Amino acid sequence: MYYEIDSSIRENEALVMLRNELHRFAREVIRPAARQLDQMPYRETNQEGSPYFEVMRKMKQNGYHRLLVPEEFGGSYSGPEAFNIFFEEIAWGSVGFATAIGVDMIPTAIMSLIGSPELIDEVLRPWMEDEEDKYRGCWSVMDPERGSDYIMAMSMPDPEKLGTKGFCRAEPEGDGWIINGAKSYWTSSAPCATWILTHPLIPPHESPTHVGAAIIPVDAPGVTISPPIDKLGTRDDPQGEIVFDNVRIPGHYMITANAALARDLMKMVISCTSCAVASMFVGVARAAFEEALRYTRERVQGGKAIIDHQLTRYRLYKMFEKIETSRYYTRVVTRHVLEEIFEKREFLQSTPHALTAQAYAKASAYEVATDALQLFGAAGITKDYIIEKIFRDARCGLIEDGTVEVLGLEAIEDLLQEEFYTLD
Ligand SMILES: Cc1cc2nc3c(=O)[nH]c(=O)nc-3n(C[C@H](O)[C@H](O)[C@H](O)COP(=O)(O)OP(=O)(O)OC[C@H]3O[C@@H](n4cnc5c(N)ncnc54)[C@H](O)[C@@H]3O)c2cc1C
Repeated sequence: MYYEIDSSIRENEALVMLRNELHRFAREVIRPAARQLDQMPYRETNQEGSPYFEVMRKMKQNGYHRLLVPEEFGGSYSGPEAFNIFFEEIAWGSVGFATAIGVDMIPTAIMSLIGSPELIDEVLRPWMEDEEDKYRGCWSVMDPERGSDYIMAMSMPDPEKLGTKGFCRAEPEGDGWIINGAKSYWTSSAPCATWILTHPLIPPHESPTHVGAAIIPVDAPGVTISPPIDKLGTRDDPQGEIVFDNVRIPGHYMITANAALARDLMKMVISCTSCAVASMFVGVARAAFEEALRYTRERVQGGKAIIDHQLTRYRLYKMFEKIETSRYYTRVVTRHVLEEIFEKREFLQSTPHALTAQAYAKASAYEVATDALQLFGAAGITKDYIIEKIFRDARCGLIEDGTVEVLGLEAIEDLLQEEFYTLD
Protein backbone atom coordinates (compact mmCIF):
# COMPACT_ATOMS: atom_id res chain seq x y z
CA MET A 1 0.00 0.00 0.00
CA TYR A 2 1.27 3.49 -0.85
CA TYR A 3 2.09 6.21 1.66
CA GLU A 4 -0.64 8.86 1.53
CA ILE A 5 1.03 12.27 1.34
CA ASP A 6 -2.24 14.22 1.48
CA SER A 7 -2.79 14.73 5.21
CA SER A 8 -6.45 15.68 4.66
CA ILE A 9 -6.92 12.08 3.50
CA ARG A 10 -4.34 10.39 5.72
CA GLU A 11 -5.87 11.89 8.85
CA ASN A 12 -9.48 11.35 7.81
CA GLU A 13 -10.59 8.18 9.56
CA ALA A 14 -13.61 7.60 7.31
CA LEU A 15 -11.52 7.82 4.13
CA VAL A 16 -8.78 5.58 5.51
CA MET A 17 -11.41 3.01 6.49
CA LEU A 18 -12.99 3.26 3.05
CA ARG A 19 -9.63 2.73 1.37
CA ASN A 20 -8.85 -0.30 3.54
CA GLU A 21 -12.29 -1.82 2.97
CA LEU A 22 -12.07 -1.30 -0.78
CA HIS A 23 -8.57 -2.70 -0.94
CA ARG A 24 -9.64 -5.86 0.88
CA PHE A 25 -12.62 -6.21 -1.44
CA ALA A 26 -10.41 -5.71 -4.50
CA ARG A 27 -7.91 -8.31 -3.30
CA GLU A 28 -10.32 -10.94 -2.01
CA VAL A 29 -13.33 -10.61 -4.31
CA ILE A 30 -12.44 -8.73 -7.49
CA ARG A 31 -9.03 -10.17 -8.37
CA PRO A 32 -9.94 -13.87 -8.19
CA ALA A 33 -13.18 -13.35 -10.16
CA ALA A 34 -11.46 -11.14 -12.74
CA ARG A 35 -8.74 -13.73 -13.35
CA GLN A 36 -11.39 -16.40 -13.77
CA LEU A 37 -13.36 -14.27 -16.25
CA ASP A 38 -10.16 -13.40 -18.10
CA GLN A 39 -9.55 -17.07 -18.85
CA MET A 40 -13.17 -18.05 -19.56
CA PRO A 41 -14.58 -18.46 -23.08
CA TYR A 42 -15.76 -14.91 -23.74
CA ARG A 43 -19.28 -15.99 -24.69
CA GLU A 44 -19.78 -17.47 -21.23
CA THR A 45 -18.89 -14.29 -19.37
CA ASN A 46 -22.50 -13.01 -19.42
CA GLN A 47 -24.19 -16.38 -18.93
CA GLU A 48 -25.93 -17.51 -15.76
CA GLY A 49 -23.42 -18.62 -13.16
CA SER A 50 -20.70 -16.26 -14.46
CA PRO A 51 -18.63 -14.78 -11.60
CA TYR A 52 -19.40 -11.37 -13.11
CA PHE A 53 -22.87 -11.34 -11.54
CA GLU A 54 -21.71 -12.46 -8.13
CA VAL A 55 -19.15 -9.63 -7.93
CA MET A 56 -21.64 -7.04 -9.16
CA ARG A 57 -24.18 -8.23 -6.58
CA LYS A 58 -21.61 -7.87 -3.81
CA MET A 59 -20.73 -4.35 -5.00
CA LYS A 60 -24.42 -3.46 -4.84
CA GLN A 61 -24.75 -4.97 -1.37
CA ASN A 62 -21.85 -2.78 -0.28
CA GLY A 63 -23.65 0.23 -1.76
CA TYR A 64 -20.84 1.12 -4.20
CA HIS A 65 -23.36 2.05 -6.91
CA ARG A 66 -24.59 4.98 -4.77
CA LEU A 67 -21.30 6.85 -4.73
CA LEU A 68 -22.18 9.51 -7.34
CA VAL A 69 -25.79 10.16 -6.36
CA PRO A 70 -26.73 12.70 -3.67
CA GLU A 71 -28.44 11.49 -0.49
CA GLU A 72 -31.70 13.27 -1.38
CA PHE A 73 -32.18 10.68 -4.16
CA GLY A 74 -31.10 7.67 -2.13
CA GLY A 75 -27.39 7.87 -2.97
CA SER A 76 -24.35 8.35 -0.78
CA TYR A 77 -22.30 10.97 -2.65
CA SER A 78 -19.30 11.58 -0.43
CA GLY A 79 -17.06 13.87 -2.40
CA PRO A 80 -14.10 13.74 -4.75
CA GLU A 81 -11.62 12.06 -2.39
CA ALA A 82 -13.89 9.04 -1.90
CA PHE A 83 -14.48 8.97 -5.67
CA ASN A 84 -10.73 8.82 -6.45
CA ILE A 85 -10.00 6.27 -3.75
CA PHE A 86 -12.90 4.11 -4.91
CA PHE A 87 -11.84 3.87 -8.55
CA GLU A 88 -8.15 3.47 -7.78
CA GLU A 89 -8.72 0.58 -5.37
CA ILE A 90 -11.34 -1.26 -7.44
CA ALA A 91 -9.12 -0.98 -10.56
CA TRP A 92 -6.13 -2.15 -8.55
CA GLY A 93 -8.21 -5.34 -8.28
CA SER A 94 -9.18 -5.21 -11.96
CA VAL A 95 -9.97 -2.37 -14.32
CA GLY A 96 -12.72 -4.41 -16.00
CA PHE A 97 -14.82 -4.47 -12.83
CA ALA A 98 -13.99 -0.82 -12.14
CA THR A 99 -15.38 -0.04 -15.61
CA ALA A 100 -18.46 -2.19 -14.97
CA ILE A 101 -19.39 -0.37 -11.76
CA GLY A 102 -18.35 2.96 -13.35
CA VAL A 103 -20.72 2.60 -16.30
CA ASP A 104 -23.45 1.47 -13.92
CA MET A 105 -23.08 4.82 -12.12
CA ILE A 106 -23.35 7.03 -15.22
CA PRO A 107 -27.10 6.66 -15.90
CA THR A 108 -27.93 7.21 -12.23
CA ALA A 109 -25.65 10.24 -11.91
CA ILE A 110 -27.26 11.84 -14.98
CA MET A 111 -30.76 11.11 -13.71
CA SER A 112 -29.92 12.71 -10.37
CA LEU A 113 -28.58 15.82 -12.08
CA ILE A 114 -31.17 16.46 -14.79
CA GLY A 115 -33.86 13.76 -14.55
CA SER A 116 -37.52 14.68 -14.06
CA PRO A 117 -39.16 13.99 -10.66
CA GLU A 118 -41.20 11.24 -12.40
CA LEU A 119 -38.05 9.52 -13.68
CA ILE A 120 -36.31 9.89 -10.34
CA ASP A 121 -39.18 8.19 -8.50
CA GLU A 122 -39.74 5.50 -11.11
CA VAL A 123 -36.15 4.49 -11.98
CA LEU A 124 -33.48 6.26 -9.91
CA ARG A 125 -34.81 5.57 -6.40
CA PRO A 126 -35.38 1.81 -6.90
CA TRP A 127 -31.95 1.61 -8.61
CA MET A 128 -30.38 3.16 -5.53
CA GLU A 129 -32.29 0.79 -3.22
CA ASP A 130 -31.34 -2.28 -5.25
CA GLU A 131 -28.96 -4.67 -3.48
CA GLU A 132 -29.74 -7.74 -5.55
CA ASP A 133 -28.22 -6.33 -8.72
CA LYS A 134 -31.52 -6.14 -10.60
CA TYR A 135 -30.48 -2.78 -12.03
CA ARG A 136 -27.29 -2.90 -14.09
CA GLY A 137 -26.42 0.08 -16.24
CA CYS A 138 -24.28 0.71 -19.29
CA TRP A 139 -23.36 3.87 -21.20
CA SER A 140 -23.66 3.58 -24.93
CA VAL A 141 -22.08 6.53 -26.69
CA MET A 142 -20.21 5.46 -29.81
CA ASP A 143 -21.97 4.50 -33.06
CA PRO A 144 -20.43 1.82 -35.29
CA GLU A 145 -19.26 4.54 -37.69
CA ARG A 146 -18.24 7.00 -35.02
CA GLY A 147 -15.59 6.45 -32.40
CA SER A 148 -13.18 9.37 -32.08
CA ASP A 149 -15.50 11.64 -34.07
CA TYR A 150 -17.88 11.60 -31.15
CA ILE A 151 -15.24 13.14 -28.94
CA MET A 152 -13.87 15.53 -31.57
CA ALA A 153 -17.39 16.86 -32.25
CA MET A 154 -17.53 18.33 -28.74
CA SER A 155 -15.21 21.22 -29.58
CA MET A 156 -14.96 21.38 -33.38
CA PRO A 157 -16.13 24.79 -34.58
CA ASP A 158 -17.93 23.10 -37.50
CA PRO A 159 -18.99 19.58 -36.36
CA GLU A 160 -21.62 19.50 -39.14
CA LYS A 161 -18.72 18.67 -41.49
CA LEU A 162 -18.52 15.24 -39.82
CA GLY A 163 -22.06 14.49 -41.07
CA THR A 164 -24.81 12.65 -39.24
CA LYS A 165 -25.06 9.42 -41.23
CA GLY A 166 -24.93 6.24 -39.20
CA PHE A 167 -26.24 7.78 -36.02
CA CYS A 168 -28.77 6.14 -33.84
CA ARG A 169 -31.78 8.50 -34.10
CA ALA A 170 -34.70 9.47 -31.90
CA GLU A 171 -37.97 10.84 -33.31
CA PRO A 172 -40.79 12.24 -31.17
CA GLU A 173 -44.02 10.25 -31.37
CA GLY A 174 -47.09 11.17 -29.35
CA ASP A 175 -45.97 11.71 -25.78
CA GLY A 176 -42.85 9.58 -26.20
CA TRP A 177 -39.98 8.80 -28.57
CA ILE A 178 -39.11 6.13 -31.12
CA ILE A 179 -35.46 5.08 -31.31
CA ASN A 180 -33.81 3.37 -34.27
CA GLY A 181 -30.22 2.49 -35.11
CA ALA A 182 -27.22 0.73 -33.66
CA LYS A 183 -24.61 1.54 -31.06
CA SER A 184 -21.05 0.30 -31.38
CA TYR A 185 -20.12 -3.16 -30.16
CA TRP A 186 -17.81 -1.53 -27.67
CA THR A 187 -20.46 -0.66 -25.09
CA SER A 188 -18.98 -1.84 -21.78
CA SER A 189 -21.22 -4.19 -19.78
CA ALA A 190 -23.96 -4.09 -22.45
CA PRO A 191 -24.29 -7.91 -22.63
CA CYS A 192 -25.01 -7.95 -18.87
CA ALA A 193 -27.01 -4.72 -18.55
CA THR A 194 -30.66 -4.21 -17.71
CA TRP A 195 -30.67 -0.47 -18.53
CA ILE A 196 -28.92 1.57 -21.22
CA LEU A 197 -28.08 5.26 -21.14
CA THR A 198 -27.60 6.32 -24.72
CA HIS A 199 -27.25 9.50 -26.76
CA PRO A 200 -29.37 9.33 -29.92
CA LEU A 201 -29.42 12.06 -32.52
CA ILE A 202 -32.40 14.30 -31.79
CA PRO A 203 -34.29 16.81 -33.97
CA PRO A 204 -33.24 18.68 -36.05
CA HIS A 205 -30.79 15.77 -36.62
CA GLU A 206 -28.44 18.09 -38.52
CA SER A 207 -25.25 18.07 -36.49
CA PRO A 208 -23.44 15.32 -34.60
CA THR A 209 -23.83 17.57 -31.58
CA HIS A 210 -27.63 17.33 -31.72
CA VAL A 211 -27.75 14.49 -29.26
CA GLY A 212 -30.03 13.85 -26.32
CA ALA A 213 -29.75 11.45 -23.41
CA ALA A 214 -32.23 8.59 -23.14
CA ILE A 215 -32.60 5.83 -20.60
CA ILE A 216 -33.88 2.59 -22.09
CA PRO A 217 -34.74 -0.69 -20.38
CA VAL A 218 -33.08 -3.64 -22.10
CA ASP A 219 -36.36 -5.57 -22.06
CA ALA A 220 -38.16 -2.87 -24.11
CA PRO A 221 -39.51 -4.44 -27.35
CA GLY A 222 -37.02 -3.85 -30.20
CA VAL A 223 -33.80 -3.82 -28.13
CA THR A 224 -31.21 -6.45 -29.10
CA ILE A 225 -27.79 -6.88 -27.54
CA SER A 226 -25.09 -9.01 -29.11
CA PRO A 227 -23.12 -11.65 -27.21
CA PRO A 228 -19.84 -10.40 -25.69
CA ILE A 229 -17.01 -9.76 -28.14
CA ASP A 230 -13.64 -11.49 -27.84
CA LYS A 231 -10.79 -9.12 -27.06
CA LEU A 232 -7.23 -8.61 -25.79
CA GLY A 233 -7.83 -7.16 -22.33
CA THR A 234 -10.44 -5.99 -19.80
CA ARG A 235 -12.01 -9.38 -20.44
CA ASP A 236 -13.79 -9.33 -17.10
CA ASP A 237 -16.14 -6.63 -18.42
CA PRO A 238 -18.03 -7.90 -21.47
CA GLN A 239 -18.69 -5.51 -24.36
CA GLY A 240 -21.43 -5.86 -26.96
CA GLU A 241 -23.40 -4.10 -29.69
CA ILE A 242 -26.87 -2.66 -29.10
CA VAL A 243 -29.51 -2.42 -31.83
CA PHE A 244 -32.70 -0.39 -31.47
CA ASP A 245 -35.49 -1.38 -33.82
CA ASN A 246 -38.48 0.96 -33.39
CA VAL A 247 -37.99 1.09 -29.65
CA ARG A 248 -40.66 3.18 -27.97
CA ILE A 249 -39.87 5.01 -24.75
CA PRO A 250 -42.11 7.30 -22.69
CA GLY A 251 -41.35 11.02 -22.77
CA HIS A 252 -39.72 11.14 -19.34
CA TYR A 253 -37.16 8.46 -20.36
CA MET A 254 -35.65 11.06 -22.71
CA ILE A 255 -33.69 12.75 -19.93
CA THR A 256 -32.91 15.71 -22.17
CA ALA A 257 -33.71 16.50 -25.78
CA ASN A 258 -32.31 19.99 -25.77
CA ALA A 259 -29.95 20.17 -28.76
CA ALA A 260 -28.58 23.52 -27.53
CA LEU A 261 -27.43 21.89 -24.30
CA ALA A 262 -26.16 18.67 -25.84
CA ARG A 263 -22.51 19.74 -26.13
CA ASP A 264 -22.46 20.94 -22.54
CA LEU A 265 -24.02 17.70 -21.41
CA MET A 266 -21.45 15.57 -23.27
CA LYS A 267 -18.60 17.66 -21.89
CA MET A 268 -19.96 17.36 -18.39
CA VAL A 269 -20.30 13.57 -18.64
CA ILE A 270 -16.90 13.10 -20.29
CA SER A 271 -15.25 15.28 -17.65
CA CYS A 272 -16.67 13.04 -14.93
CA THR A 273 -15.81 9.79 -16.68
CA SER A 274 -12.30 11.10 -17.40
CA CYS A 275 -11.70 11.58 -13.66
CA ALA A 276 -12.97 8.06 -12.96
CA VAL A 277 -10.89 6.52 -15.76
CA ALA A 278 -7.79 8.45 -14.65
CA SER A 279 -8.14 7.07 -11.11
CA MET A 280 -8.71 3.60 -12.50
CA PHE A 281 -5.45 3.69 -14.42
CA VAL A 282 -3.56 4.96 -11.38
CA GLY A 283 -4.84 1.73 -9.80
CA VAL A 284 -3.71 -0.33 -12.80
CA ALA A 285 -0.24 1.26 -12.71
CA ARG A 286 0.03 0.67 -8.98
CA ALA A 287 -0.96 -2.97 -9.38
CA ALA A 288 1.81 -3.41 -11.97
CA PHE A 289 4.35 -1.60 -9.80
CA GLU A 290 3.56 -3.76 -6.77
CA GLU A 291 3.89 -6.97 -8.79
CA ALA A 292 7.29 -5.75 -10.00
CA LEU A 293 8.39 -4.89 -6.46
CA ARG A 294 7.43 -8.36 -5.26
CA TYR A 295 9.06 -10.24 -8.13
CA THR A 296 12.32 -8.29 -8.22
CA ARG A 297 12.82 -9.03 -4.51
CA GLU A 298 12.41 -12.77 -5.15
CA ARG A 299 14.27 -13.30 -8.43
CA VAL A 300 18.04 -13.67 -8.14
CA GLN A 301 20.31 -12.97 -11.12
CA GLY A 302 23.90 -11.71 -11.26
CA GLY A 303 24.44 -13.04 -7.73
CA LYS A 304 21.74 -10.93 -6.03
CA ALA A 305 18.04 -10.15 -6.05
CA ILE A 306 17.36 -8.16 -9.22
CA ILE A 307 15.96 -5.32 -7.09
CA ASP A 308 19.53 -4.81 -5.85
CA HIS A 309 20.81 -3.91 -9.34
CA GLN A 310 20.92 -0.16 -9.88
CA LEU A 311 19.25 -0.37 -13.26
CA THR A 312 16.23 -2.09 -11.67
CA ARG A 313 16.06 0.50 -8.92
CA TYR A 314 16.05 3.39 -11.37
CA ARG A 315 13.37 1.67 -13.42
CA LEU A 316 11.28 1.21 -10.27
CA TYR A 317 11.81 4.87 -9.39
CA LYS A 318 10.52 6.00 -12.82
CA MET A 319 7.46 3.80 -12.35
CA PHE A 320 6.81 5.29 -8.91
CA GLU A 321 7.24 8.83 -10.30
CA LYS A 322 4.56 8.22 -12.95
CA ILE A 323 2.08 6.73 -10.49
CA GLU A 324 2.46 9.49 -7.92
CA THR A 325 2.25 12.40 -10.41
CA SER A 326 -0.74 10.76 -12.01
CA ARG A 327 -2.59 10.21 -8.72
CA TYR A 328 -2.15 13.71 -7.34
CA TYR A 329 -2.88 15.51 -10.62
CA THR A 330 -5.99 13.38 -11.03
CA ARG A 331 -7.14 14.26 -7.53
CA VAL A 332 -6.85 18.02 -8.06
CA VAL A 333 -8.73 17.79 -11.35
CA THR A 334 -11.41 15.57 -9.81
CA ARG A 335 -11.97 18.00 -6.95
CA HIS A 336 -12.51 20.79 -9.47
CA VAL A 337 -14.78 18.75 -11.77
CA LEU A 338 -16.96 17.22 -9.05
CA GLU A 339 -17.30 20.54 -7.24
CA GLU A 340 -18.54 22.21 -10.43
CA ILE A 341 -20.90 19.42 -11.38
CA PHE A 342 -22.21 17.85 -8.19
CA GLU A 343 -21.78 20.61 -5.64
CA LYS A 344 -22.24 23.93 -7.46
CA ARG A 345 -24.26 22.30 -10.27
CA GLU A 346 -23.01 24.99 -12.63
CA PHE A 347 -21.27 22.65 -15.09
CA LEU A 348 -18.42 25.13 -15.59
CA GLN A 349 -15.74 22.47 -15.23
CA SER A 350 -12.56 22.63 -17.30
CA THR A 351 -12.97 19.65 -19.64
CA PRO A 352 -9.41 19.93 -21.05
CA HIS A 353 -7.97 19.36 -17.58
CA ALA A 354 -10.15 16.30 -17.12
CA LEU A 355 -9.15 14.90 -20.52
CA THR A 356 -5.50 15.56 -19.66
CA ALA A 357 -5.81 13.64 -16.39
CA GLN A 358 -7.32 10.71 -18.27
CA ALA A 359 -4.78 10.70 -21.12
CA TYR A 360 -1.81 11.10 -18.77
CA ALA A 361 -2.93 8.38 -16.35
CA LYS A 362 -3.61 5.91 -19.16
CA ALA A 363 -0.31 6.56 -20.94
CA SER A 364 1.56 6.34 -17.61
CA ALA A 365 -0.18 3.08 -16.69
CA TYR A 366 0.84 1.52 -19.99
CA GLU A 367 4.47 2.61 -19.50
CA VAL A 368 4.52 1.31 -15.94
CA ALA A 369 2.92 -2.01 -16.95
CA THR A 370 5.42 -2.38 -19.81
CA ASP A 371 8.35 -1.81 -17.44
CA ALA A 372 6.88 -4.20 -14.90
CA LEU A 373 6.48 -6.93 -17.50
CA GLN A 374 10.07 -6.39 -18.62
CA LEU A 375 11.27 -6.82 -15.03
CA PHE A 376 9.64 -10.25 -14.95
CA GLY A 377 11.63 -11.46 -17.97
CA ALA A 378 10.08 -14.52 -19.62
CA ALA A 379 8.03 -15.29 -16.49
CA GLY A 380 6.04 -12.13 -17.20
CA ILE A 381 4.46 -13.45 -20.37
CA THR A 382 3.20 -16.66 -18.78
CA LYS A 383 -0.24 -17.07 -17.26
CA ASP A 384 1.41 -17.95 -13.94
CA TYR A 385 1.68 -14.29 -13.02
CA ILE A 386 -1.03 -11.64 -13.07
CA ILE A 387 1.32 -9.11 -14.67
CA GLU A 388 0.49 -10.27 -18.21
CA LYS A 389 -3.22 -9.55 -17.55
CA ILE A 390 -2.43 -6.14 -16.07
CA PHE A 391 -0.29 -5.40 -19.15
CA ARG A 392 -3.11 -6.37 -21.55
CA ASP A 393 -5.61 -4.29 -19.55
CA ALA A 394 -3.25 -1.30 -19.55
CA ARG A 395 -2.84 -1.60 -23.34
CA CYS A 396 -6.62 -1.42 -23.83
CA GLY A 397 -6.62 1.74 -21.75
CA LEU A 398 -4.83 3.60 -24.54
CA ILE A 399 -8.03 3.17 -26.58
CA GLU A 400 -11.07 2.94 -24.30
CA ASP A 401 -13.05 6.07 -23.45
CA GLY A 402 -11.19 7.87 -26.23
CA THR A 403 -7.73 7.12 -27.61
CA VAL A 404 -4.98 9.01 -25.82
CA GLU A 405 -4.21 10.86 -29.06
CA VAL A 406 -7.79 12.03 -29.60
CA LEU A 407 -8.20 13.00 -25.94
CA GLY A 408 -5.12 15.18 -26.40
CA LEU A 409 -6.42 16.73 -29.61
CA GLU A 410 -9.78 17.48 -28.02
CA ALA A 411 -8.13 18.90 -24.89
CA ILE A 412 -5.96 21.36 -26.81
CA GLU A 413 -8.87 22.44 -29.03
CA ASP A 414 -11.04 23.07 -25.99
CA LEU A 415 -8.23 24.75 -24.08
CA LEU A 416 -7.69 27.29 -26.85
CA GLN A 417 -11.38 27.94 -27.55
CA GLU A 418 -12.61 28.22 -23.98
CA GLU A 419 -9.75 30.43 -22.89
CA PHE A 420 -8.67 28.20 -20.05
CA TYR A 421 -5.17 29.51 -20.87
CA THR A 422 -4.35 33.15 -21.42
CA LEU A 423 -1.18 35.06 -22.21
CA ASP A 424 -0.47 38.39 -20.58
C1 LIG B 1 -12.25 -1.77 -23.51
C2 LIG B 1 -13.10 -0.73 -24.18
C3 LIG B 1 -14.27 -0.30 -23.55
C4 LIG B 1 -15.11 0.64 -24.18
N1 LIG B 1 -16.29 1.00 -23.57
C5 LIG B 1 -17.15 1.83 -24.20
C6 LIG B 1 -18.43 2.16 -23.62
O1 LIG B 1 -18.77 1.75 -22.50
N2 LIG B 1 -19.29 2.94 -24.33
C7 LIG B 1 -18.97 3.43 -25.56
O2 LIG B 1 -19.78 4.11 -26.15
N3 LIG B 1 -17.74 3.16 -26.12
C8 LIG B 1 -16.85 2.37 -25.48
N4 LIG B 1 -15.63 2.08 -26.05
C9 LIG B 1 -15.31 2.66 -27.36
C10 LIG B 1 -14.16 3.67 -27.28
O3 LIG B 1 -14.60 4.86 -26.69
C11 LIG B 1 -13.63 3.86 -28.70
O4 LIG B 1 -13.02 2.64 -29.05
C12 LIG B 1 -12.63 4.99 -28.78
O5 LIG B 1 -13.25 6.23 -28.58
C13 LIG B 1 -11.91 5.01 -30.15
O6 LIG B 1 -12.82 4.90 -31.19
P1 LIG B 1 -12.60 3.81 -32.33
O7 LIG B 1 -12.29 2.51 -31.67
O8 LIG B 1 -13.78 3.86 -33.22
O9 LIG B 1 -11.30 4.25 -33.11
P2 LIG B 1 -11.24 5.31 -34.32
O10 LIG B 1 -12.00 6.53 -33.97
O11 LIG B 1 -11.63 4.59 -35.58
O12 LIG B 1 -9.71 5.66 -34.37
C14 LIG B 1 -8.73 4.83 -35.01
C15 LIG B 1 -7.36 5.51 -34.92
O13 LIG B 1 -7.42 6.80 -35.59
C16 LIG B 1 -7.00 7.83 -34.70
N5 LIG B 1 -7.81 9.04 -34.97
C17 LIG B 1 -9.16 9.11 -35.02
N6 LIG B 1 -9.54 10.37 -35.29
C18 LIG B 1 -8.43 11.10 -35.40
C19 LIG B 1 -8.18 12.48 -35.68
N7 LIG B 1 -9.19 13.35 -35.87
N8 LIG B 1 -6.90 12.89 -35.74
C20 LIG B 1 -5.88 12.03 -35.55
N9 LIG B 1 -6.05 10.71 -35.27
C21 LIG B 1 -7.31 10.26 -35.21
C22 LIG B 1 -7.24 7.28 -33.29
O14 LIG B 1 -6.37 7.88 -32.33
C23 LIG B 1 -6.94 5.80 -33.49
O15 LIG B 1 -5.55 5.58 -33.35
C24 LIG B 1 -14.76 1.17 -25.44
C25 LIG B 1 -13.57 0.76 -26.05
C26 LIG B 1 -12.74 -0.18 -25.43
C27 LIG B 1 -11.47 -0.59 -26.10
